[in-house]
Amino acid sequence: MPSYVILEKCDGCKGQDKTACMHICPQDLMMLDKEKMKGYNRDPWLCWECYNCVKICPQQAIDVRGYADFMPLGGSVVPLRGSEDIMWTVKFRNGTLKRFKFPIRSIPEGSAQPLGGFAEGSADLKSELLMTEPASLNLSALPTIKK
Ligand code: SF4
Ligand code: SF4
Repeated sequence: MPSYVILEKCDGCKGQDKTACMHICPQDLMMLDKEKMKGYNRDPWLCWECYNCVKICPQQAIDVRGYADFMPLGGSVVPLRGSEDIMWTVKFRNGTLKRFKFPIRSIPEGSAQPLGGFAEGSADLKSELLMTEPASLNLSALPTIKK
């Protein structure tokens, strides 16, 4: 089920050109209504329920209607993002609350290398192999179809 914006909480990311939810959505679904200064999901049918917008929203103004197997009616799953981890609050239908923290970083903030250490324009970046293949598959070479 798609994400939706809780209007009372959304502040339109204070009118920035690109809001946090617009920046993060891999489907380019989140938009800002500049008259109302509220974010919205422009095409719920295309939403993957990936939770990226839920996790990044600084106002906790986005929620996802979860599928019943993941979140039965009456339950809720709410993330609160920190710089090192996300605190998940899970509310069961009977009112039971559970909280757990899940780390989101393995390296210091700001130290990620966009190209993974490869040089700009390197042939490796254009290769159809994944970064660690074939070594990560314990192979010396990937199997190919013999012609
Ligand atoms: S990230 Fe949150 S506060 Fe910012 S526009 Fe989107 S829903 Fe509103
Ligand atoms: S849940 Fe994921 S796909 Fe859906 S609107 Fe949010 S960021 Fe985009």
